[in-house]
Amino acid sequence: MTTRFPFDRVNWTSSIFLIVTFFTALIGTPIYLIKFGVDPFQIALFAFYSIATGLSITLGYHRLFAHRAFKAKAPVKLGTLIFGACAFEDSALDWASDHRMHHKHVDQEEDPYDISKGFFWAHMGWIFFKLYPRPLANVGDLKKDELVMWQHRWHRALGFLFGILMPTMIGMMWNGGVGALGGFLLAGVTRVVVVQHCTFFINSLCHTMGRRPYDSRTSARDSFLMAIFTFGEGYHNYHHSFQHDYRNGVKKWQWDPTKWSIWTLEKLGLASELRRVPEEKILLAEMRETRRQAELRLAKIEAAKAERAGDPCPRWRGAVEAAHEMTEKFARNYSELEDAVAEGVRVSKKNLARWKAEAAEYLEQLSAMDQFAPAAA
Ligand SMILES: [Zn+2]
Ligand SMILES: [Zn+2]
Repeated sequence: MTTRFPFDRVNWTSSIFLIVTFFTALIGTPIYLIKFGVDPFQIALFAFYSIATGLSITLGYHRLFAHRAFKAKAPVKLGTLIFGACAFEDSALDWASDHRMHHKHVDQEEDPYDISKGFFWAHMGWIFFKLYPRPLANVGDLKKDELVMWQHRWHRALGFLFGILMPTMIGMMWNGGVGALGGFLLAGVTRVVVVQHCTFFINSLCHTMGRRPYDSRTSARDSFLMAIFTFGEGYHNYHHSFQHDYRNGVKKWQWDPTKWSIWTLEKLGLASELRRVPEEKILLAEMRETRRQAELRLAKIEAAKAERAGDPCPRWRGAVEAAHEMTEKFARNYSELEDAVAEGVRVSKKNLARWKAEAAEYLEQLSAMDQFAPAAA
């Protein structure tokens, strides 16, 4: 039997690496832990490496290099480039190039991790078929950065040296051969697998599950759960709406340790020019999405109105009237905000809060009208 599987297009090095590390972590680590027990030192080393390499991807590869959401001094660049290499997610240059393609062509053929090709493809399937050299036409700015280019040349060696060999050596100094094996398995291989899959989940889960408060025309979604595992990268609907903002969790209560780290680096004088989208623009996006949702509901109400022509029920007629009143009020607020954004005028916090509350109330009122739909009547 012949198979149509495109073996000639497989990247064997990446594929074997992904599979071997995954099964080593899945089988080797539990056996090690059962045989030698849980050593708090090894857990601490694993935690340190997970945070250092995970943050290097979110803060360095993603927000600094791919999106230029802020400027950073050389020590921040060097640190995130070295520990980013330890995540084995390619060089920062390659990563940023793929990621910029993803934002530009999201949900389309040119998107390297296009979710419309399926969950597994977006998660990691695309890496099995990622062939080199990449075009790298969209990272001209990064090519001018000597540190980025140095890491691009040496990222595999750096990853092996600092991400595998170093934790093994630290483990050895702590507890001889058993410690070396523990360092290799936990802070080395298992940590690589965990950090990689957390990144992969942004491309798969955050394009599948969650809310879309800013723009429902893209598959990107906000997920608090994913934010927990990815240092705040889970607010992906916001991020796709405003990719150059250094914040992904833009609300005060949202979990975004990457944002807090960048803010702290700024206070330490190691980062500057943090890019923030003005509140007015953010609310305008939310209200635009409210308008989209409202239009769908209003169409339903209009259909119900046609079916209930001449219906004397006072509750129904009152609700329709109220909905129209709210629609007019919402339209007034929207155009006032739109003008303010177009003219770059700041709106008072009080007004922003009021418009936001009224937009939420508007949608709620329209949703409540479902009870009058013909099927329920
Ligand atoms: Zn995305
Ligand atoms: Zn991004």
